[in-house]
Amino acid sequence: MKGEPSSRSVGILGGGLAGLALAALLAGRGHRVTVYERDRLGGKLRRLQVGAVTFDTGPSLFTFPAVWQAYLARLGESDPLDLRPLPGGLGVHHTPHGPVPLPVPPTHALWPEWQRYVQAAAPLPTHLPTLLTTPPRLTDPAFVRASAALWRATGGHLTASGWLRAQRLPPALAHAVATHALNAGLSPQDAPALYALIPALVGREVYRPARGMGALLDALKGWATARGVVLREGQGVEVVRGSTLQLAGGEVACHDLLVSALDPARLAALRGGSVPSPVARRTVSGAALYAELPQPAPLPATSVVPPHDFAVFRRCVRAGALPPSTLALVHAEGRRLSVLLAAPATGAPLTLAHSWVQAQIRQVEAALGVPGLWRSARAAAALPPAHYAAGGHPGGALYGAALPPWRGGPLHPQPYQLAPGLWQVGTGVHPGGGLPAVLGGALIVDTLLHAKLQAGSA
Ligand SMILES: Cc1cc2nc3c(=O)[nH]c(=O)nc-3n(C[C@H](O)[C@H](O)[C@H](O)COP(=O)(O)OP(=O)(O)OC[C@H]3O[C@@H](n4cnc5c(N)ncnc54)[C@H](O)[C@@H]3O)c2cc1C
Repeated sequence: MKGEPSSRSVGILGGGLAGLALAALLAGRGHRVTVYERDRLGGKLRRLQVGAVTFDTGPSLFTFPAVWQAYLARLGESDPLDLRPLPGGLGVHHTPHGPVPLPVPPTHALWPEWQRYVQAAAPLPTHLPTLLTTPPRLTDPAFVRASAALWRATGGHLTASGWLRAQRLPPALAHAVATHALNAGLSPQDAPALYALIPALVGREVYRPARGMGALLDALKGWATARGVVLREGQGVEVVRGSTLQLAGGEVACHDLLVSALDPARLAALRGGSVPSPVARRTVSGAALYAELPQPAPLPATSVVPPHDFAVFRRCVRAGALPPSTLALVHAEGRRLSVLLAAPATGAPLTLAHSWVQAQIRQVEAALGVPGLWRSARAAAALPPAHYAAGGHPGGALYGAALPPWRGGPLHPQPYQLAPGLWQVGTGVHPGGGLPAVLGGALIVDTLLHAKLQAGSA
């Protein structure tokens, strides 16, 4: 990595994966970087002890490894993660038309239709990493080529449901793919068309580090520390004024540049303003439930139980009400069981004892044919929307506020630089939200910031 003409002092607000990933990149360029984290480093990814087992909370599926490879290449590090394919890929989707494993295996009756669906996304795999890691600039030929490929593949459809309708897939397959669009935190009607292509694109490329997701956090922390980044854990920022930070406890810190790795609504509040985030335009939050079972669950690694009715689900979530049936993502690994229940982003304290949580658990058990499984747990814990609201989007939206579909895809130029000396990165900024967007967003901000500093302005 080339050194900067002159090193700057950079303050990064938020020590989640985005803040840490960018901190390592900027420190590698010779900048003096400090990360301020109000709670624990890792943000949504943290280790949680439940009885005798440990969970890595937050991200469970590591997709688009090409983005991770691009990050490693920029940093000049070799891969410490030992990514292993997750058995069963995206999991078994329990549609009203019967269970559908994604990717569909060759032995399944839906295989020919799955092949037709995968074919529709065939021109994209080489371009998507470009879209996730390249500044969205029409002056960049690689970006323009990749955008054109995306436009051709989505055929001008704006939303996931619009694109899916046009494909005329069998109802079971269409339902499973549409359910997966919800992984972006949005109903298929609101998610950009690209999300209907994700199961085809990630296909068998669904991974997890051999030592769990926590290995990603360890790696980022290690690289940041090795490059001299000062990690101030338990140190919240209370006010942002220009390039000055007021920290909890009254300390004042000044930097040449600030990068917010916080949700944009949270940053706006620290700057004394606000950004609109009506409930109807938020991605979903979740109640993440974790249990230690007495013995391994008789379940595949990943099961997906969709809401009974997408329209009712969408109406409830957009109104901030608890839907009668929700999306559940179930992971079973040995004696570990985790269930993520999608919930509206209202910051609600949905504890294990909450009647809605209990009702959803019963519905999930019925759909999976494992009645009483949860009750058999030796120990259990829950991270409700209120937990995600404490350090992320104020309503706990997993991927922040949702942009309209025509602005939510990678084609839309994001405001990575908010003001002179103030940049932003992270899940609420880069469309799509998950690990590829977080890592890709760090690469984009590193590129843009480097170019600005070379040009003498940032
Ligand atoms: C249940 C769940 C499941 C998920 N599943 C997947 C998945 O399978 N695959 C995938 O790719 N992604 C998944 N994600 C998304 C992924 O976890 C996030 O995109 C990623 O962790 C976000 O990182 P971040 O750094 O942008 O934000 P965060 O992790 O929210 O980090 C923000 C940090 O800022 C800190 N902070 C807030 N306010 C202040 C302040 N005033 N001063 C200082 N610090 C502050 C917070 O404490 C926090 O540590 C999932 C997320 C959740 C919650």
